[in-house]
Amino acid sequence: MEDCIFCQIIAGKIPSTKVYEDDTVLAFLDISQATKGHTLVVPKRHVPDIYAYDTELAAAVFARLPKIARAIKASDPAIQGLNILNNNGELAYQSVFHSHIHLIPRYSADDDFN
Ligand code: 5GP
Ligand code: ZN
Repeated sequence: MEDCIFCQIIAGKIPSTKVYEDDTVLAFLDISQATKGHTLVVPKRHVPDIYAYDTELAAAVFARLPKIARAIKASDPAIQGLNILNNNGELAYQSVFHSHIHLIPRYSADDDFN
């Protein structure tokens, strides 16, 4: 998908700050940090939204979330919680149509939450 910004990030054509990578997924920092450490997990295969996953890809992506969540938690002792969010469709605030899962660390007072 040449015009997909996340496919370009996966291909290394657009820089990103990587959090985790394997054959199936890439996790990288969101360019607009809702909180410090806000991470996006994307399947390397282009799927536009939740409706396009097959069971195998859905299982593979979800299976990687605990490991990535632990890495984020370990990166900052101030992290006290984590929101996991997946938007589908413009009405639901999806703005990039390469499916992605937001991992949003939460801090005691969320001082850095805008
Ligand atoms: P959505 O609104 O589709 O659920 O989330 C898309 C997310 O992608 C937004 O939080 C936005 O900040 C992030 N984003 C958009 N373009 C880029 C980019 O070029 N690099 C990175 N790292 N994040 C991006
Ligand atoms: Zn894509």
